Amino acid sequence: MLVSPPAIELLAIGNELLLGETVDTNSAWIAQRLAREGIAVARKTTVGDDVALIRDALSAALRRARTVVCTGGLGPTVDDLTRHAVAELYGRRIVVDESWIEVLRERYRRRGIEMPAINRVQGEVPEGARALPNPRGTAPAIVIEDDDLGMTVLLPGVPSEMRGFMEGEIVPLLCERLRPAAPIAIRLIRTTGISEAAVAERVADIAADTAPVDLAFLPDTCGVDIRLSAASDAAALRRLDALAAALRERIGAAVYADGPLDLAAVVGKLLRARRCTVALAESCTGGLLGKRLTDTPGASDYVQTGFITYSNQAKHALLGVSAATLAAHGAVSGECAREMAAGARLRGGADLGVAITGIAGPGGGTEEKPVGTTWIAVAAGGGTTARRFVFPGDRGEVRERAAQAALDMLRRHLLDAHD
Ligand code: ATP
Ligand code: MG
Repeated sequence: MLVSPPAIELLAIGNELLLGETVDTNSAWIAQRLAREGIAVARKTTVGDDVALIRDALSAALRRARTVVCTGGLGPTVDDLTRHAVAELYGRRIVVDESWIEVLRERYRRRGIEMPAINRVQGEVPEGARALPNPRGTAPAIVIEDDDLGMTVLLPGVPSEMRGFMEGEIVPLLCERLRPAAPIAIRLIRTTGISEAAVAERVADIAADTAPVDLAFLPDTCGVDIRLSAASDAAALRRLDALAAALRERIGAAVYADGPLDLAAVVGKLLRARRCTVALAESCTGGLLGKRLTDTPGASDYVQTGFITYSNQAKHALLGVSAATLAAHGAVSGECAREMAAGARLRGGADLGVAITGIAGPGGGTEEKPVGTTWIAVAAGGGTTARRFVFPGDRGEVRERAAQAALDMLRRHLLDAHD
């Protein structure tokens, strides 16, 4: 980037984070939220519930960044030590904000209960710090500042309370203090059915020089996302859009979305636009394809029905797969997938039938049909197509990849059939 954005540091506090029992989603959320304002997070630190460790980590972070946002450890229990560590570092006494205690007491009174004495701790703040009232919980947020150390913001660990403070007072406060020049603009290109290496190879010359735009390849189980980001001044934005267009063009049909859209939502839109209904026949995915398609509200416009036919008997009885096909080729075969898709379409009364049959593992693989072997078929009025895949990964990954590949075959069918 040409101009580096102003940066802060984040400090996540809590033993549960170090134990891995709680994943630190707060820091990720804050970093994303601030990126939209043009404020970068230079470093994230996690420490346990210990006054000396919190004080030292905060002191080091302030020395580097001069502005630090902390989450966690503001509760009323003995393991909530953040305010004490901060008071020590800033050399302030702890005082009690009686007005906040009165707010809490009134809340309890309205519910007809006496406020537990332990809640007096929630009024404790380092002297001279600002306590921001918390409409969602009992711990106020605390903002403390001096000329030597800089500014520290303390937020509760509970994610909804943290987000409430960020959206309310804290984002404006940080923008006022750091005066970011321009928010960071992001373009996301989502691909599926193509490996990270293959995508990288295909776009190598474009990726070789993207300045001042940052380019990142983000592979996941179900595909590779390409993320472009830049400061949003006019010149960088033009470059950002030109690069996004060039990448889309080069990658071609493997691109299924611009922006954070799920493949199932993309397929849903196509089905609705084409006024097409679909019936599903699932073996190894056990309903995952149906779940994906019906995650989108309004899916009843195009999802007609689904059959989970795990046994051969069910494939025969519910979908009409012939006994001869099952005997000659087995359940994981192109022939079986075709008959499943055609059967789902016919018996489900839909325009299209989609079938998945495969070996999710860990057992059941053979030399000829190793674990991961999956047949997917799409049946339409004009005929049925089937494709064989061998998906890598464990049972869960094979199933996820199978559902994703089925959605992608459906997407490609819908695009080809009508464009
Ligand atoms: P409060 O006083 O409002 O209860 P607190 O400041 O004491 O909040 P904690 O006790 O540390 O916060 O955590 C409260 C809850 O928030 C816990 O369930 C914890 O798992 C969760 N939490 C804490 N920190 C994080 C984080 N960084 N990311 C996601 N969840 C978190
Ligand atoms: Mg805690």
